[in-house]
Amino acid sequence: MFNASFIEISRKAYRNNIRYLKRIIGKDVIFSSVVKGNAYGHGVENIVPLAEEAGINHFSVFSAKEANDVLKVMSPASQLMIMGFLDDSEIEWAIQNDIEFFVFDAGRLEKALETAKMTRKKARIHIEVETGFNRTGFVYENLDELVKYLKREREHYIFQGLCTHYAGAESLSNYLRIKNQITLFRKFSRYFGRHDLHPVLYHTACSAAALIYPGTIMNMVRFGIAQYGFWPSPETHMFRFRKDTRDTNPLRRMLSWKSKVMVVKNVEAGSFVGYGSSYLANKKMKIAIIPVGYANGFSRALSNTGRVLIRGRRVPVIGTVTMNTMTVNVTDIPGVERGDEVVIIGKQKRLSISISSFCEMSEQLNYQLLTRLPADIPRFIVA
Ligand SMILES: *Cc1c(COP(=O)(O)O)cnc(C)c1O
Repeated sequence: MFNASFIEISRKAYRNNIRYLKRIIGKDVIFSSVVKGNAYGHGVENIVPLAEEAGINHFSVFSAKEANDVLKVMSPASQLMIMGFLDDSEIEWAIQNDIEFFVFDAGRLEKALETAKMTRKKARIHIEVETGFNRTGFVYENLDELVKYLKREREHYIFQGLCTHYAGAESLSNYLRIKNQITLFRKFSRYFGRHDLHPVLYHTACSAAALIYPGTIMNMVRFGIAQYGFWPSPETHMFRFRKDTRDTNPLRRMLSWKSKVMVVKNVEAGSFVGYGSSYLANKKMKIAIIPVGYANGFSRALSNTGRVLIRGRRVPVIGTVTMNTMTVNVTDIPGVERGDEVVIIGKQKRLSISISSFCEMSEQLNYQLLTRLPADIPRFIVA
């Protein structure tokens, strides 16, 4: 009820992905499940419990808002980490709730430790260092001051981690840049060590780094895209393909997106279909209207190019995708009727539409497509 389309989340596929990734990092390394962007579009309320079932008890998000969403569904025994935005006004809340957070500038550090003093509760901090991504992180040249401060304020924080993020580990063309980042991170680690500051964890790897550069795995990996069954890039897949020496894809998509035929109708030869004149029926046609449009996450760029599955056949989108509908050509499919299942992403009979084909057609990154799936599409876990 109340939905024009829905998303299925496969528990079996998720289990498969976690098993594969855990085998790569080994059993002593913490698997942090990155669930920012509403768990890459899969829904935090689905992924957090699934991950806990699969033995994962560490989660990473971008902001306090996202952390709050995770807290509602997370087991109290699990640990939560904010990697990005945390407003000064949210720091006390984070400390009170035992949420770990990245600290990447002196301002946040001071604010965090002042708050810790005030609330008499230690802040659980991860010091992020700048190794070449040039986003957030302390730079090597300013470590003196940072280290002095950390030594003086020892009793107000737990040094939970030392971390950094790579600038495009998924592309082999960045090889040198990543290697330099790894080297610089080691230099940072030694510097802290020399000053008797020892973090509980060292962590740097996202999916691509863990899959391609084993040296980046350290004590914890922040797995995003790969746990959902997607390769960070085709190159990452090729690299693992050779390494794993298996001829099947070890990662499985866990998300399918489905809808229903809303209306079937006939169109006379010589008439335009939809807004404007982008599609002209040059013969008598049968078309079906699907209640999914660009407001529902189906890109307008797929006008006249997208495809969906109906009755086990691939059918093309014709005309422009509107806010809430798309039109497909079902002339050659006998018996199509209102209520027939429409697969936008996923399998139907022997055919399947992958996210990557979808992305290629709409020129989107898989990350982008997934996180743009509206949160209000109902999501169901299936076996
Ligand atoms: C998003 C993110 C990750 C996860 O990246 P994937 O490529 O999805 O594995 C890891 N670390 C940080 C800091 C991130 O922002």
